[in-house]
Amino acid sequence: MAEQRASYSGLATFMRLPVAEEESAWKVADVVVAGAPFDVATTNRPGARFGPRAIRDQSLQLAWGPIWPWGYDPFERIRAVDAGDVPFDWGRPKELEENLRNHVARVLRAGAAPITLGGDHFCTLPVLRACKERFGPVAVIQFDAHRDVEEGAGQGRIDHGIVFSEALHEGLIEETACVQVGIRTVYPGEAGAGMTVIDAAACHEMHPRQVAAKIRDVVGGRPVYLSFDIDCLDPAFAPGTGTPVPGGLSSHQARAILWELKGLNFIGFDVMEVSPPYDAGEITALMGAMLALDFCCLLAAGKKAM
Ligand code: MN
Ligand code: MN
Repeated sequence: MAEQRASYSGLATFMRLPVAEEESAWKVADVVVAGAPFDVATTNRPGARFGPRAIRDQSLQLAWGPIWPWGYDPFERIRAVDAGDVPFDWGRPKELEENLRNHVARVLRAGAAPITLGGDHFCTLPVLRACKERFGPVAVIQFDAHRDVEEGAGQGRIDHGIVFSEALHEGLIEETACVQVGIRTVYPGEAGAGMTVIDAAACHEMHPRQVAAKIRDVVGGRPVYLSFDIDCLDPAFAPGTGTPVPGGLSSHQARAILWELKGLNFIGFDVMEVSPPYDAGEITALMGAMLALDFCCLLAAGKKAM
């Protein structure tokens, strides 16, 4: 029997995965987890720089073998490692963009899928730049209260509200293959008009299976990146975030949608905007860990134990 350690004990890597900071170790990995402790781009509350550490901490509560309702331990089917946090000089925030992009490019070159623990949602932009290099313009499934398609693309701004307008401007994503889930804010501009929006009201009217079916229709078999802004959830379920908006999804709704996305051509995942200073009872960080774990279970679905 494997050594059992209490959730509050031991070093906190994501899900107690082995540490592998060296690129050479990623060649045998299916998944490389890394933190992006960066919150310079938020329009309101800061604190997402503490997200990666809090998510790793809470993941230890989940690191006890088979995962409900999947019925298996994904790490018996896929190889995953924790590469630590992407380093950058806090006095040069532009460095995060370069270093995160280079990190993800190396992970993809090694044939693994990147999981990024944010950090504010701006961190998704350099990840998408690396994905475009390898796959061309990709499909995106974005869970979020906000569409993040504000005006101001192409000006080098560091702003979590322009991630997807900038990604469109740079040709990183395929507009008509993008779907935004849980939206409950209004954007006056034209950017992203070709994206599919399943707003929060629609999510509340539909069964999670129906939401998932619509997502599958949009992305098809394309290489697809899954980006989860934790503020997609209602503040009752995820208070620890920078720009909360009432009326969002429950933890169950979000998970139940993910459960129905088996078999899509996933190339990577992130969970962004977990801000521990605003959290209550660490429930937001715990849900961040749960979502990253559900993504690992998605990748492991249909695979045999090693
Ligand atoms: Mn966002
Ligand atoms: Mn948001």
